[in-house]
Amino acid sequence: MNIIKSKKRGSLIVISGPTCAGKDSICRELAKINKNVWISVSCTSRPIRGNEVDGVDYFFVTKEEFERKIRNDEMLEYAQVHYNDYYGTPKEHIKEKLDAGYDVILVIDIQGALQIKEKIDEAIFIFVLAPTMEDIRKRLIKRGYENTEQMIERFKTAYKEINELTKYNYVVVNDVLEDAVNKVNSIITSEKCRVDRIEEVYLSNEEEIIHEFLVDKDLKNEEIDI
Ligand code: 5GP
Repeated sequence: MNIIKSKKRGSLIVISGPTCAGKDSICRELAKINKNVWISVSCTSRPIRGNEVDGVDYFFVTKEEFERKIRNDEMLEYAQVHYNDYYGTPKEHIKEKLDAGYDVILVIDIQGALQIKEKIDEAIFIFVLAPTMEDIRKRLIKRGYENTEQMIERFKTAYKEINELTKYNYVVVNDVLEDAVNKVNSIITSEKCRVDRIEEVYLSNEEEIIHEFLVDKDLKNEEIDI
């Protein structure tokens, strides 16, 4: 029998960070090395991009469909992020995955993260950063999804979001992808070792007898070398 029994329930991990910080790449790589993570697929009303797949990158819905989901209380959190497009986390599956012991990851913006903070005390908040603003600028241009006006808008939002960094528990700078992935994985592992995850401490009668025997008969007589 193990001495401690920790909560089986998984952790809810919120990852945010400015555009082009590499949040999605980190999560993709993380899922390869940690089979216990489950990455939530968000819903969005923004148009699908060339290489994206519905149900994999996002569930793409119309604005009306998204608003219907809000009215039906189907979203754990939601926000209008870029150009008034809706982005949100569907409630479906989150509780079931956490109860099954999976660590559930939400990659969401700061507005959504603050809503989760209000609702779920034990959630863990990780902020992912690109090393410099110049890196963000270069990555935005290289990615080439947006026109100049949209890129400037994303860059401005990135600048604002970085000011919210202190609302998070951890910060990971994504300089070398592999290092950033290992850091996020280590955060998840450390959180599992928290004392407040212990549900029960168990010592059987037999173990108490062994303890008494050792303490009373043997160890007491040993000299302690300090
Ligand atoms: P994208 O580049 O995919 O158009 O936009 C990504 C932005 O929307 C990122 O800031 C990302 O964190 C945010 N986002 C993606 N999914 C969600 C979500 O479910 N909820 C919220 N609040 N933000 C999301």
